[in-house]
Amino acid sequence: MKLAMNNIDTIIDSLPKTKGNIQILPLSKLCWFRVGGNGIVFSPSDENDLEYFLKNKPSNIKIYPMGLGSNTLVRDGGYDGVIIRLNNFNKTCVKDTTISTGAGNSDLKIAKLAMNNNISGFEFLSGIPGCIGGAIVMNAGAYGNETSDIFVSAQGFDYQGNKLTLSKEQMNFSYRHCDYANNVIFTSATFQGKIGKKEEINKKMQEINISRTNSQPIKSRTGGSTFRNPDNYKAWELIDQVNLRGKVIGGAQISEQHCNFLINQGSATSYDLEQLGELAKNTVKSELGIDLNWEIKRIGKYE
Ligand SMILES: Cc1cc2nc3c(=O)[nH]c(=O)nc-3n(C[C@H](O)[C@H](O)[C@H](O)COP(=O)(O)OP(=O)(O)OC[C@H]3O[C@@H](n4cnc5c(N)ncnc54)[C@H](O)[C@@H]3O)c2cc1C
Repeated sequence: MKLAMNNIDTIIDSLPKTKGNIQILPLSKLCWFRVGGNGIVFSPSDENDLEYFLKNKPSNIKIYPMGLGSNTLVRDGGYDGVIIRLNNFNKTCVKDTTISTGAGNSDLKIAKLAMNNNISGFEFLSGIPGCIGGAIVMNAGAYGNETSDIFVSAQGFDYQGNKLTLSKEQMNFSYRHCDYANNVIFTSATFQGKIGKKEEINKKMQEINISRTNSQPIKSRTGGSTFRNPDNYKAWELIDQVNLRGKVIGGAQISEQHCNFLINQGSATSYDLEQLGELAKNTVKSELGIDLNWEIKRIGKYE
């Protein structure tokens, strides 16, 4: 079935009846930037519910799986599709040094679960403020480790509702990339760590926490790294070189602490933040001849 989808009321009326909640919400509440218009949010109750929804929704409705919104900028006009949130997908299972987890669990929760079971290799996840689904898709990483290092396999559905299991080889991970972003909704994953000692794991996690607090504006309304690091460069150094540290547009600022972070100072619109990012991108291109590519996912309509 195809429908003309002009507004969210038309879309919501066309959706299949599900066990999980479907509601219209201010998306600003679901994202770290705390900006953005309204959207339809579907929280499937379980895998069957998600499968039913995907198989029975009109084919031209856009969907966006959202985790904790720590790498997402929703535009001020809201999202003209359906946001899928897996907050009910939070089971975990530990066996030896293997952890299986629902995609809705936060990275921090899984890092702590590993620590409490004397499993090392998950420490880097403790500082990444997203959830497991986002970590897989972004191949999130920090302090020399990334998600692909511990990844064994993941389960999910394609956007037509077909169930998939994907191995590490199939995912084809690279820097902040896997081959299945934007076409699979991951529901669970299995990771493999190594035997470790709780005290040492805890110490490492605390060191990461201190280092992060000193180098990133983690208490601010931000979206993490705005741009991918181009080959052989660091995005923050390029933005610093063109003298944009601290630059303000409206209520948005380039972080004084870390130039690759945009900050909502309190009154920013999504448009302010995007314009500021575009200014950095264009200035780096015109003055240094280097292309910056957005790492942050920008979704939805302009106001
Ligand atoms: C203060 C701060 C510090 C950060 N530091 C780091 C860092 O050190 N390293 C790093 O890599 N990142 C960092 N980030 C960025 C961000 O936390 C990561 O990219 C994180 O993995 C995103 O997870 P999320 O759940 O918030 O994803 P979202 O922002 O919700 O979504 C990001 C992408 O993942 C997709 N996605 C989310 N869940 C699913 C799912 N279940 N199935 C399919 N697709 C899904 C979305 O569609 C989107 O494409 C930081 C962000 C902030 C705000």
